Amino acid sequence: MREGYDAQQVCLNGHQQTDRYYGSPEFRREFCEECGASTVHKCSNCLADILGDYSVPGVIAFGCTTPVPPFCRGCGVKFPWTDRLIASKASDAVSAIDPKDVLARLCTRFSLVVRELRHRHDNRPTLNVVDEYDVQDLLHSALHLFFDDVRAEEVVPSYAGKSTRMDFLLKDASISVEAKMTRKGLGAKEVGEQLILDIAQYQSHPSCKSLFCLVYDPEHRVRNPRGIETDLSKTHGELEVRVFVVS
Ligand SMILES: [Zn+2]
Ligand SMILES: [Zn+2]
Repeated sequence: MREGYDAQQVCLNGHQQTDRYYGSPEFRREFCEECGASTVHKCSNCLADILGDYSVPGVIAFGCTTPVPPFCRGCGVKFPWTDRLIASKASDAVSAIDPKDVLARLCTRFSLVVRELRHRHDNRPTLNVVDEYDVQDLLHSALHLFFDDVRAEEVVPSYAGKSTRMDFLLKDASISVEAKMTRKGLGAKEVGEQLILDIAQYQSHPSCKSLFCLVYDPEHRVRNPRGIETDLSKTHGELEVRVFVVS
């Protein structure tokens, strides 16, 4: 054995078999023990060895400490496992987030996004949020950044008046999200009354344990937004409710 880099053997899905391919041939595997995929120890493009452990004669290292590289150091091509590892890292990161934290952030920053969307390069067409449908569509898109299963449900509200209500059910998290926008005739009093009725309705909804309500109030029709939020954001029966009034 001479001093220098050994090669590492990796399966096509990115599982390392050994980082001492030459020094400890007994650890070589033709197929991955974890997933059954075939294994390689060279770049298929330039045939350079995949960099393994740095071995020093007389020093025995235990365990694999060399990271699986994303790119070939010989020619720079991406290894077959790289995209898969990046995707699984990203989905781990998404599943590690708390859905309620995400929803709170989406709600509190909603108006920043609305504002930013108005300023498009070269005045290109944009989504200008002017009514409740726009609020719902924008929120719907944003929910897809974080949730796989977003179900949009048209709801017939129990209160009188034209219905524009569309709710979103995040099935995996058992959370419903509803969005409203204040307008002429729908100020603090009306919104408060609607929310109370909605909350009562949701309490009997079997697949909903939490309800997030976004009230977009760009013209400041709600004079005491924190008051409504504090009054309604609590547990109603078994239903956890969080209200966000943003402008
Ligand atoms: Zn594998
Ligand atoms: Zn290469």
